[in-house]
Amino acid sequence: MNPAHLKALRCPICHGELTEQTNGLLCQKDALIFPVRDGMPIMLIEQAIPAAGAASDA
Ligand SMILES: [Zn+2]
Repeated sequence: MNPAHLKALRCPICHGELTEQTNGLLCQKDALIFPVRDGMPIMLIEQAIPAAGAASDA
């Protein structure tokens, strides 16, 4: 994904920055991954995937 694009994207929950992952965009604060489908990030809370292993006790 375009890095400039990624910078403009914010977590819809905490409005924090997102980290690009292979399976989507990770919010480390919320430990949620927002999936990317066909190059389009799905920035919906109800579509977010819990980021297993993102917690400190991984
Ligand atoms: Zn967040």
